[in-house]
Amino acid sequence: MVGSLNYDHVVTVDRLPERGQTVSGRGYISVPGGKGLNQAVTASRLGAQVSMIGCLGDDPAGALLREVLTREGVQAATVRTVAGRPSGTALITVERGGANTIVVAAGANGELGGQDVGAARPLFGPASVVLAQMEVPWPAVEAALRLARTVGARTVLNPSPAPGPLPGPLLALVDVLVPNETEALAMTGCSAPGEAARRLLTEGCGAAVVTLGERGALLAEPGRSPLSVPAYPVPALDTTAAGDAFCGTLAASLAAGGSLLEAVRRGCAAGAVATTVMGALPSLPTAAQVDRLQLLGSRHPRVEE
Ligand code: ADP
Repeated sequence: MVGSLNYDHVVTVDRLPERGQTVSGRGYISVPGGKGLNQAVTASRLGAQVSMIGCLGDDPAGALLREVLTREGVQAATVRTVAGRPSGTALITVERGGANTIVVAAGANGELGGQDVGAARPLFGPASVVLAQMEVPWPAVEAALRLARTVGARTVLNPSPAPGPLPGPLLALVDVLVPNETEALAMTGCSAPGEAARRLLTEGCGAAVVTLGERGALLAEPGRSPLSVPAYPVPALDTTAAGDAFCGTLAASLAAGGSLLEAVRRGCAAGAVATTVMGALPSLPTAAQVDRLQLLGSRHPRVEE
């Protein structure tokens, strides 16, 4: 896992403040987050052996996040503590009804570089899956994808937050690109996810998986028309981290030797589980929860293939 670790601050309010306005918050919590941490924890809960490459600040939040990784069984020896920098954070305001504003300060995440990936070289092997997102500097992600290529590891990139178009030579380093619908459209300028998935393939990635929220996901591979993989119907409460649950599960499933289609199906089940619990970390699924939903789902198949 090459990605971000954040310590987030969440305040609930009756109404989001206007520019220049001060409002009173109702509740406040601080929680571990960041796409890298969420996806690493998911992959570990799904049974994968996970090592994290990232950066933390030398502050109490950094120490706490390191403890979370250890408690969740994620190897943190290649997570560097950066002297004089704060840990990454997101300041999140949530209005009644769910509308929110989010400001992310990268902090130590912005210090991750190619040298951190180089220092973790022994972790890269032909059986590993390298999973990355875009909340850390691109040179670090690119170094990890290139190193993965040289050792024959598989690469999965969740291009989130949407980076805009990625240059073709860089997309060619990605075996499985996993954008959500908004990101897929932003990266391609297309107006429909199927068209965007096909465009991403022609631009060079090995396969494109576009997640579509309660509509499931689209799997596009060269030489076939995109396959629609249905969502698992669940009583969704909070969709925060559904995409992280999906990506962490997809990578864990590939690392366990599953096919890409099996990995996407399992990712859909994981994303669905994540929507049934409030928050990010508490909502990330376990292997048992994903198994149970897949078993229930197979008794009530909604096959669209
Ligand atoms: P992101 O959180 O990155 O925007 P999505 O919203 O597309 O990602 O969610 C990721 C996956 O989680 C989807 O592909 C889907 O399988 C599952 N999912 C998300 N929302 C729901 C929902 N309301 N009901 C069932 N499954 C969902």
